[in-house]
Amino acid sequence: MTQSKLFDNHGRPLNYLRLAVTDRCNLRCYYCMPAEGINYLPKKELLSFEEIERIVSILAGMGITKVRLTGGEPFVRTDLMQLIEKITQTQGISDVHITSNGILMSPHVRELKALGIASVNLSLDTLDADRFKKITRRDEFGKTWETLQLLISSGIPVKINTVVMDEKNIEDIIPLVELSKNENISVRFIEEMPFNGEGSHYPKLNWTYKKIIEHIRSAFPSLQKITDPENATAYHYQVPAFKGNIGVIAAFSRTFCGSCNRIRITAQGVLKTCLYDDGVLNIKDLLRSGKSDDEIKTELLFAFNHRAKDGVEAETARKQHPLLTESMSTIGG
Ligand code: SAM
Repeated sequence: MTQSKLFDNHGRPLNYLRLAVTDRCNLRCYYCMPAEGINYLPKKELLSFEEIERIVSILAGMGITKVRLTGGEPFVRTDLMQLIEKITQTQGISDVHITSNGILMSPHVRELKALGIASVNLSLDTLDADRFKKITRRDEFGKTWETLQLLISSGIPVKINTVVMDEKNIEDIIPLVELSKNENISVRFIEEMPFNGEGSHYPKLNWTYKKIIEHIRSAFPSLQKITDPENATAYHYQVPAFKGNIGVIAAFSRTFCGSCNRIRITAQGVLKTCLYDDGVLNIKDLLRSGKSDDEIKTELLFAFNHRAKDGVEAETARKQHPLLTESMSTIGG
C-alpha cells in the first residue's frame, strides 16, 4: 500500500493532482462544450509553465506523488513537452499521466515513452467516424485512432475514456469493450456529468453505472468483477480470456468519494478539492502576490483541512456558481 504523508480532514490520503494546463480544446464535444465553444481565458490568466512547476514542486514537497496533465486539450498548449519533461524531473513526483483526445499527440509518443510517462487516458466515445464527428463536432476520428495504435505499440499503458450518452453512442459500448479482447488496455465508461459549459442536462441520468454494467453483461454474461486498484474511481471488470479490462465510473452517482485521493488545479489556477466544488483557493493569486512557498503551503493545508466529505456536500456548498454549468475543459477532466 502507498504511504501518504498528506491527509484531509476526513483522514483520506491526498497524493494525486489533476492539473488543467489550458481551457482550450480542438474538439467541441457535445457533453463538454457548446458548439460555439466557451469564452477562453486570456493567455495571461493561465498559469505560466514556471508557475506550474513551482506549485507542483510545493505540492510534491507536501505529499503529492502523482500528476495528471489535462485540460482543455493539453497538446494545444505550445511547448507542452517541455513542461512534461520538467514535471517528470520534479523531486517527489513518481507518476506523470496525461489525459488527451490524441489528435495532436502522435508525433510525441516516442518522447513520452522515453520520459517514462506512466499512462495515457485517451478520450474516445465511438469507433465510428461519423458518430465521432457528431459527438465532437470535428472530423478527427482518424488522428485519435492513429494515436491509439501508436500508444499501444509503444508500450505506454493506455486507458480509453468513453462518456456514455443516451441516443449518441450506446451502440458503441460493446465494440469498445471488444477492444480489450486482444490488447491490454482498459476501456472505461463514464457516467455523463452536467459539466457541459451550458447548463442543460438530463433531468435524470438514464445511463447510470449500474445500467452500463447490465448492458455489458447482457452481451458478455461471463463478465467478472476484478479487484479495483487502490483509490480507483472505476469499478473494474473483465471478460474472461480478454487481455485488457473494462472500468465503469460512477462520475455523477458519486460512489467513490470515501477514498478520493485527488485534488485539481483548474485552467484559471484555482484549487478544487472536489470536482463538484466551485473552487476553494486561488493559487494563481497566491503565486503572483509574492507569497513564499511556506505561506502558500499554509493556505493549501487550510484548504485540505476543510475538504467536503463528498461530492454532494461540495455541490451543496457552492456559492459562486450554484449550478454545475462549467465546462470540463475549464475544470480539467
Ligand atoms: N482534452 C482532453 C481529452 O479529451 O481527454 C482532456 C480534457 S477532457 C475535459 C477530460 C475528460 O473529461 C475526457 O475523458 C472527457 O470525456 C471527460 N468529460 C468531459 N465532459 C464530461 C462530462 N460532461 N461528463 C463526463 N465526462 C466528461
